[in-house]
Amino acid sequence: MYNILDQRLQYLPGVGPNRALTLASELDIHTVRDLLFHFPYRYIDRSTIYTVSQLSDNTPFVQLRGRISDISEEGVGRAHRLEALFSDETGSVRLVWFAGISYIKKSLRKDVEYLLLGKPALFNLSYSITHPELEVIKGDTLPPEVIGLYPVYHTTERMKRQNINSRFIEKLVVEVFRQIGNERVADTLSDELRLQYNLIPLHDALRRVHLPANMQEVPMAQYRLKFEELFFLQLSILSFARKRNGKYRGFIFGKVGQLFRHFYSEVLPFQLTDAQKRVMQEIRNDLVSGQQMNRLLQGDVGSGKTVVALMTMLRAIDNGFQACIMAPTEILAEQHYATISRMLAPLGVSIELLTGMVKGKRRTAILRDLKSGELKVIVGTHALLEDNVQFSNLGCAIIDEQHRFGVEQRSKLWRKNTNPPHILVMTATPIPRTLAMTVYGDLDVSIIDQMPPGRKPIKTVHIYEQRTEHLEQLIRREVAEGHQVYVVYPLIKESEKMDLRDLEQGFETLCATFPDLRIGKLHGKMRDQDKNEIMQLFLSKQLDILVSTTVIEVGVDVPNASVMAIINADRFGLAQLHQLRGRVGRGAEQSWCVLVTDYKLADNTRKRMEIMVSTTDGFVIAEEDLKLRGPGDIEGTQQSGLFLNLKIANLVRDNEILETAREAATHLLDSDPDRNQPANAPTWQHLSQMRDTSVDWSSIS
Ligand code: ADP
Ligand code: MG
Repeated sequence: MYNILDQRLQYLPGVGPNRALTLASELDIHTVRDLLFHFPYRYIDRSTIYTVSQLSDNTPFVQLRGRISDISEEGVGRAHRLEALFSDETGSVRLVWFAGISYIKKSLRKDVEYLLLGKPALFNLSYSITHPELEVIKGDTLPPEVIGLYPVYHTTERMKRQNINSRFIEKLVVEVFRQIGNERVADTLSDELRLQYNLIPLHDALRRVHLPANMQEVPMAQYRLKFEELFFLQLSILSFARKRNGKYRGFIFGKVGQLFRHFYSEVLPFQLTDAQKRVMQEIRNDLVSGQQMNRLLQGDVGSGKTVVALMTMLRAIDNGFQACIMAPTEILAEQHYATISRMLAPLGVSIELLTGMVKGKRRTAILRDLKSGELKVIVGTHALLEDNVQFSNLGCAIIDEQHRFGVEQRSKLWRKNTNPPHILVMTATPIPRTLAMTVYGDLDVSIIDQMPPGRKPIKTVHIYEQRTEHLEQLIRREVAEGHQVYVVYPLIKESEKMDLRDLEQGFETLCATFPDLRIGKLHGKMRDQDKNEIMQLFLSKQLDILVSTTVIEVGVDVPNASVMAIINADRFGLAQLHQLRGRVGRGAEQSWCVLVTDYKLADNTRKRMEIMVSTTDGFVIAEEDLKLRGPGDIEGTQQSGLFLNLKIANLVRDNEILETAREAATHLLDSDPDRNQPANAPTWQHLSQMRDTSVDWSSIS
């Protein structure tokens, strides 16, 4: 086993303690291993050397060969810079440095020939190159590593100030491979696995990704390294899940009881969609497996998750257990309570609502009945998590709108029974399956990817705030037909005051435009009681228009609402726009979503509006969102407790590799459950050493 990889970086020539500190703080590079896993993000072809006369605007990076003269410091303050002239036989370019001036000035020499690498920019009819990379050419011959491809590494301003540039990192890598010599970097995967998945050895992959001889070498090397990254990620997720499953037995809900049957055949007012049936089957398999269920149920707004939740709860009750459902807001909890108690009424199952608003005798009675087991179903907010909320025998907990709850809170539910209850987490934030499998760690994923029949797709239009007559007409027409309207304003923390003023102004304008309509307003700064009151008025159709911030974002169900107007829509992300749009279109009639923005929009923003107009498919929107923003930003991924710090793989682009890696990881866990096959020893060892497993998997439910 070669241990140079564990060596601290500062002992490499040219590094020393200061630069080592900078590399550690800026790029999290501490050891030689970290260095080798800091990959170039692109390559420049170094096989050609240009002349100054050949420069043009479409050569982004070039190599030149020449001499330096006319070194001078110019400007003061922020404009302070070092300049020099770089010339070959065909002409000159100006070199400019804004940082590290004194160091560079000292090191520039007029008596040698340089090989220069940089990006020329045309300025005042001549070319200049800012912060070029320079290398002295010794004698007539070029340094051997200059032939071929030039790796470009990510660096930061602070690094540049200490002269740690891309070239410096490349030199370190060259030095590391020189020291490794004929030894090889030990592989982390068995030969068998490598053969099966067509992966080159780790040593070769590392060497080729940093110092490729030609561009053809790069893809195979990247493939191996991406696979490596995703494989170990999946391996740690899956092995945690298995360990947990071994530790916690799950209640077995073996019986399809009377309640479930009765509900299915007599009460359920519609046919389940195929997607709902499939998901019910997946859940049923969990409930009889003897292991605790930890399942994420994804389904677009309106796809019918509630009935799936209800039927899961009925399974628990039929088998002698209690069930609870937890929602992130009071309004939502109340709504679930209303829907579910309506459906449970014909079955005679007891159900109560517990929120912060439920106090006094009422509360005492609920807590008593819950503890005695007389109460079968409880719906509530996080009030359910309080210690004095005790169950007689909680068998199943449903959590709605998952991303509003922290990991901590979820794991509290686990402790409400001697064995943890089965957990079903429901979310309307659509995330592609493989991504969900990764960011939600060990949750199994079920997806309802089909809408109940008979829904008319919501029509979405994008209009400019300079011309809102269409919106006014639409509002008039829809209200005349007895429908209701949402007008939503963004509320962004930094400028909360300004946003509220926008909302107030919008409210006044609407009141002036529609003096005959009943208009209410709702925002986060209002007292809970007032919020509830307004919401109740809207629910009971005593308001025509609700002007609101995004407090209505999550899950509220007002089937009579047919217009969702979103003001300053450019300030919302795609996921949020989609959630908001989902507030309408819940009935059988045509609904509208109107996106209002200024004329002037950034390209990215215009693209978002176009996507919204062109599709109502939450998964398509999620994919597009990922492409525009990258997975780090996805709602819910922060809270999921797993911060994905991938170095080379991209969860969107490398979807297929992710699937393959997961399959390989599953296979390995199946075929070597006791982790004692000699061929796999390096893999298990690497898994246990992975430094970034600071993720506390045990807290993710
Ligand atoms: P969400 O997934 O957003 O929570 P809901 O469970 O609130 O969606 O369902 C939205 C509406 O669709 C409800 O009124 C519900 O009764 C109805 N619904 C659910 N499943 C079906 C189905 N299979 N056929 C017809 N209507 C359905
Ligand atoms: Mg819902």
